Order: sequence, then structure tokens, then C-alpha cells
Amino acid sequence: MKYVVVTGGVVSGLGKGVTASSIGVVLKACGLRVTSIKIDPYLNTDAGTMSPFEHGEVFVLDDGGEVDLDLGNYERFLDVTLTRDNNITTGKIYQSVLEKERKGDYLGKTVQVVPHITDAIKNWIESVSVIPVDGEDGPADVCVIELGGTVGDIESMPFIEALRQLFFSVGQDHFCLIHVSLIPVLGIVGEQKTKPTQHSVRELRALGLTPHFLACRSAQPFLENTKQKLSQFCHVPVGNILNIHDVPNIWHIPLLLQNQNAHDAILRHLDLVSVAKSPNLQ
Ligand code: ADP
Repeated sequence: MKYVVVTGGVVSGLGKGVTASSIGVVLKACGLRVTSIKIDPYLNTDAGTMSPFEHGEVFVLDDGGEVDLDLGNYERFLDVTLTRDNNITTGKIYQSVLEKERKGDYLGKTVQVVPHITDAIKNWIESVSVIPVDGEDGPADVCVIELGGTVGDIESMPFIEALRQLFFSVGQDHFCLIHVSLIPVLGIVGEQKTKPTQHSVRELRALGLTPHFLACRSAQPFLENTKQKLSQFCHVPVGNILNIHDVPNIWHIPLLLQNQNAHDAILRHLDLVSVAKSPNLQ
């Protein structure tokens, strides 16, 4: 299984969900089978009891699972039918670890966030990623994992640590980290500022994860030197920096990615070039 992990930095509501789904669409257009997992680092077991005014509408899956609305994006973009286990929350992870603790599975051990919670997260990801969701038999080729929240949040720390360990165990050509970030424009000069992205990449690095790709949200397309600056200061090759500027319709985002050859770079990183075909999203 190849993992494409999408994290977010700088501010929330950047479009991680839409970016992750669009990356899935482009990979699917290359002939790969794609599944997805959404991680929500809140303590609620699921989104069923959360106010839509606070959290957005709950999305109800075919198996009755009440989940984050991002799962709806994944189902629509990728034409898949997800299960309730494709949405991981802190509540679900703690519930499963505490149930095992009460049953005596850890008897004699001190149950801790590391390694017990992080192991539970890794095991959950590994077992859910192989569930077929597209009506075909056998596991998908790629699992797109979106980590909700913003890197640096206290509540997402166990997930970041679990993803770091997952990366270490599966290796570079099975794990592609895409960091979604914001490039704001300040003042009358209209300069696109890369500093917030530099800081959030530094934060990610301090936690042991290095982004292989940057997906940068901006109001307008990148100015000439923005990519070079980001590459130099964030240590990401220019070809792996994607610009997802504001578009009138989110269905344009897969095309935006295809036009920047995102699929090529991701396939090369994951060593999937030989099994993929050229995408055609037009
Ligand atoms: P996150 O997962 O980071 O919280 P979402 O994927 O839910 O963010 O997106 C937040 C909002 O931004 C959504 O309403 C989405 O339609 C919108 N959005 C995302 N990307 C773009 C874009 N490139 N242009 C315009 N709107 C976008």
C-alpha cells in the first residue's frame, strides 16, 4: 500500500479536504485504485452529535456511520463507498485502547500515548486502508490520508507521531507527505508572503516529518519568484511545489493539479510510474 498523507499548516479551513480529494481524482485518472482515510483529532467518537453550526453538516455513510463532511467529498470525487472506519477520531482510538485495557489485553503494562495510542492509530490505518471501497476486489493501490486540524495543535500530536513511525516503517517510496499551506498577500506592494509556510514546515520538521510536496493556497496564481523562494527556504524541489489558487468551482482543482504535472511528480515519488497511465481529466 502506498500512502499519500495530507497535512495542513498556518490556518484551518485551507482546503485540505478538497486538495486531498483532488489528488485522489488525479491518481485515479492515472488508472490507480484509490481509497481514503480522514483523521479528525477531536475527542468525539464521531460527528453525529456535533452542531452543524459549529462543525458543518454531518455526512451519513451507507453503513450508517455519521462522519465528517469531508468523507462526502471523497465519496463524490473518487466514486467510492467508504465505511465508518475510514473516519478516525481521537475518541474512537481511545475507546478501542481503553476497551482492550479493561479486557486485560495489556495486563502488567502501563498504558501510554506512546506506544499504545500511536500503535492503535498505525494498526487502524493499516487495516482500513486495505478495505476495498470501489466495488472491486482486493486492496486499492493508494490510500490518501487527510489529517484534520493544523500541524502543531496539541490534539494532533499522537497522529503526527504515528504517521512519523508509519513513514519510518514503510519507507520513502511508499509514503508521500503533502503539506497544504497559505501564501497571503500583504499590503499595497502585493508581495506573496512565504514566511508563514516556512514556519509551518519548520514545525512539521521538528516533529520528525519532512514534506515532500507543498500545496500552497493563494488568492491569485503565484508570482514569478514565489516558487523559488518556497523551494529554497522550505527545502522542497520546485517541481514538487503546487499552487492551488482560488477557483470559482472546486471541481477545477484536479485540473489545476494535472496542469502542474502533480501526478507525474507524485507517481515518481511513489515509484508508480510503470503501472500508471497518462491522466485525462478534460
Ligand atoms: P479543510 O479540510 O482544510 O478544513 P476544506 O477542504 O473543507 O478545508 O475547504 C474549506 C473551504 O474552502 C470549502 O468551502 C472549499 O470549497 C473551499 N476551497 C478549498 N479550496 C479552494 C480553492 N482552491 N478555491 C476556492 N475555494 C476553495
